[in-house]
Amino acid sequence: MFLGYFGWTTTAPGILGEIVTAPLNVNAMTWRTSPAATELETLVIDWVRQWIGLPAEFGGVVYDTASVGIMHSLAVAREEAAPSTRTLGLSARNLPRFRIYTSDQAHSSVEKAAIALGLGEENVQRVPSDAGFRMDVAAFRAMIERDLSEKFRPLAVVATVGTTSTASVDPVPEIAKICRRHKMWLHIDAAYGGGFAILPEYKWITKGWSEADSIVINPHKTLFVPLDFSILYVRDVERLRRVFRLVPEYLRGDTIEAEKNYMDYGIQLGRRFRALKAWVIWRSLGRRGMADRLRDQMRLTNLLVDWIKSDSRFELAAPVVMPVVCFRLIVRDESSRPSTAKADMNTTIVERINTSGRAYLTQTKLRGSTVMRIGLGNVLTTEQHLRKMWELIQETAELEGRAPSRP
Ligand code: PLP
Repeated sequence: MFLGYFGWTTTAPGILGEIVTAPLNVNAMTWRTSPAATELETLVIDWVRQWIGLPAEFGGVVYDTASVGIMHSLAVAREEAAPSTRTLGLSARNLPRFRIYTSDQAHSSVEKAAIALGLGEENVQRVPSDAGFRMDVAAFRAMIERDLSEKFRPLAVVATVGTTSTASVDPVPEIAKICRRHKMWLHIDAAYGGGFAILPEYKWITKGWSEADSIVINPHKTLFVPLDFSILYVRDVERLRRVFRLVPEYLRGDTIEAEKNYMDYGIQLGRRFRALKAWVIWRSLGRRGMADRLRDQMRLTNLLVDWIKSDSRFELAAPVVMPVVCFRLIVRDESSRPSTAKADMNTTIVERINTSGRAYLTQTKLRGSTVMRIGLGNVLTTEQHLRKMWELIQETAELEGRAPSRP
């Protein structure tokens, strides 16, 4: 009954894949050190590209996490906007002050990338989101105009497909238009949501992706691969290679031309054979098997939504787009309570349940108010688990004496 965060999962083939990978102890840094790891990585990256309908001009690389992916992507954006940063660095140069834009719902990895790259945390501008927690495009335009008038240089925007709190989807086509106009790098953080693009009914989330410069997808979140496995796609992946290729003498013999060396696509030299577990899982589940499981997560999600809607003491706190449900207990006599009561009560319920050890859910803040959050995705989660969790939430709310007893 762990229903916290994103309900990522492993599967029997995933466990087998890890068991096989560990004793092989392969280093996927160059083609020569492991032709199989290199070829298989290229293959599985291309499978996912085809499943989610990305044009062939996108090439990719597997990293551990999406946070590392965005850092590499923004490093390329920075190099293209300020050529020779790779060689001369940032210090003592008269560079413009770059701005990066992302919504107030985006993941903190955007700031972390800015910190690591010397772009500065404060230069990540958080654009307000609309009622559906999607980036407000008008506000985004206004922020760019303001920054231009103050001599900042818009560098990049990070649009999210599947935000961390509510799984909302930013309006990528409109954002892409603004990027084109201002020659900004467009990174799409589809770390969570990207996997759903394998389903025809979620094709809509991929609108505008072909206009992106880079896209990150975490198969360890939605495509059944155990942690860690994240793919960064870059339109014309040579752009990434140009920034990070650096061959010291002691590796020269191993990096002969015409062979793919994944060490060229990031700061890591030694690399795990991550592609093997992905290959094992995807071969055994098949695309249809994955689609069936994702659809089952949505079936359970819709059940939970119905239960919440049919209990007048609770309300949904955000539109439900993917298997993530944010909801709250409603306080009716707010006038007699301090204004923080609403937040405290939802927190208390979450804390009570989590410390009971019987189940686990999380909380998040939406528009200043604390809400409960359930993330589905583990292949072992059944309707029975979800029903029990819902009953536990109802009972805990009653026990807290804050909610009236059920009619
Ligand atoms: N982007 C989004 C939308 C996320 O929700 C998360 C993590 O939950 C990340 C990025 C960071 O992912 P990772 O843990 O792979 O760095």
